Amino acid sequence: MKLKAHLLSKTTSLVSALSLSILLSACGQDAAKNADSGQLAPAQVNADNIKAHIEFLADDTLLGRDTGSVGYQISANYVKSYFKQLGLTPMGDQGSFEQSVTFSKTYLEQQGASVVVENANGTSELVFKDDYLMSGSKLSTQEQVKADTVFVGYGVISPDFGYDDYQGLDVKGKVVVALTGRPDDLPSEEGAHLGSSSEKLRHAAERGAVGYITLHTPKREKVRPFAVSAKYAEGPRYAWLDKNQQAFGARPEIKVGAYLHHDKAADLFVGAEQSVEQVFAADSANEKIKGFDLAAKVTLASKSRHEQVTSPNIVAVLPGSDPVLKDEYVVYTAHLDHIGVSEHSDHQDKINNGALDNASGVAILLETARLLSGLPEKPKRSILFTVVTAEEKGLLGSSYYANNPTVPQSKIVANVNLDMPLILYPFSDIIAFGANHSSLGPIVERAAAKVDVSLSPDPMPEQAIFTRSDHYSFVKQGVPAVFLMTGFKSKDPNIDGGKVFREFLSTHYHSHSDEIELPIQYDAAAQFAEVNMMIGIEIANQTERPTWNSDSFFGKTFAQ
Ligand SMILES: [Zn+2]
Repeated sequence: MKLKAHLLSKTTSLVSALSLSILLSACGQDAAKNADSGQLAPAQVNADNIKAHIEFLADDTLLGRDTGSVGYQISANYVKSYFKQLGLTPMGDQGSFEQSVTFSKTYLEQQGASVVVENANGTSELVFKDDYLMSGSKLSTQEQVKADTVFVGYGVISPDFGYDDYQGLDVKGKVVVALTGRPDDLPSEEGAHLGSSSEKLRHAAERGAVGYITLHTPKREKVRPFAVSAKYAEGPRYAWLDKNQQAFGARPEIKVGAYLHHDKAADLFVGAEQSVEQVFAADSANEKIKGFDLAAKVTLASKSRHEQVTSPNIVAVLPGSDPVLKDEYVVYTAHLDHIGVSEHSDHQDKINNGALDNASGVAILLETARLLSGLPEKPKRSILFTVVTAEEKGLLGSSYYANNPTVPQSKIVANVNLDMPLILYPFSDIIAFGANHSSLGPIVERAAAKVDVSLSPDPMPEQAIFTRSDHYSFVKQGVPAVFLMTGFKSKDPNIDGGKVFREFLSTHYHSHSDEIELPIQYDAAAQFAEVNMMIGIEIANQTERPTWNSDSFFGKTFAQ
């Protein structure tokens, strides 16, 4: 069930003669000459096209475009059909537009899950969902470990920033206990990477740990309550399968992991050199936290069930016009999947349509593809349009593509990602994640200036957005990337952009109400498309491919 349409803003075709000439000059064309030569002028960004795409993709019939669902496949067919109409070249598997990806789905069997803590006071068995959360093992059906425990602070290691939370500690054969989050003094983007669970698990696995307990903290409780995480505890958890049917990113060394409620952490610290109260106080005060051996022993067990599902990325290319540079690719990405249907939701509308997350990003990518393929002079480098699956399952479709590209990996020069453009107000600034790490920064600045929007720093560093969308999969393969978000400034003095943004996150994000009835401003969507398009055109036409800044942490960490 959907609400009756209301508040739909009237759309007008935004793009002016001014932006048309910008598009032309961006690709070295002169508007007048173009008209004289009788070539087709590049079409303008058409807000109504964007609206039409969103209306299709966010319709109830697609049931929230969940990875592997029929609704997702219908959306994928729509994208394929559109690419075909534009005359783009298929760049998926075997001359098709689809790159098939197989995922394993892991379900935890709750009756087989347990966490038992033994300390000087005795033995206590914790209660699933009240006291702890757990995911199943992606690699086996049954696991159990009984071992000593070591507290490792946040479990972060970074020589660049002077952190080694494992220094002086031996975790071999033991269960690591770490705080959720990361040291407060790490910069937001780098910190989001260094504090990610995949990095933390890697450090533990490489040092011989056999289990991992993450402690929810009172500090974290204020940002995201344990009870909220418990709602999503059922899973399943996804991983893409490699050629050998192995779950990508799984750590066989770490047999079982658990996420503990902060009220239950005290049991682990009985008899240790610091109490959990001291540790939590230091966390809340953003003080340095040192690890130490714990006296408690734990037994962790899990039981898991596995299924497989297949869901495609859709890949197409607009061949470049330069005989040499056409072998290089600028990749636009947007995820097509969303989170499907919430069967257990209290609301009568159980369909999560994902109008903004991310029908809007896909719509803007499709309109970008239409405009670029209509340019009288094609960009010099090839433009790859990769519409990915399973973003909502952990950036998995993009991770698969970045690890198994259908063009030579070394020829992917940059990624421009479109995810959840918040086109609910006439934004007058943008935030460009990733731009300050590479030569894409100045390109973004010029593109923004051309459409008269300013650049702002990240207003929500606590959200760690840099690691939360598909560009991050490319960054991890050493590809400079940029991901734009609408800023908090509004051209309309009566609309507080920041308020609208935060309200979206708290009320509509990953909810049934992220749907077409939101007061989407299609003119803002068109403008957002323009900035992203100009960024892509400039990258494609530059003589040199983008480079990481020499001091960039991400360049140093991932670029070969
Ligand atoms: Zn999402």
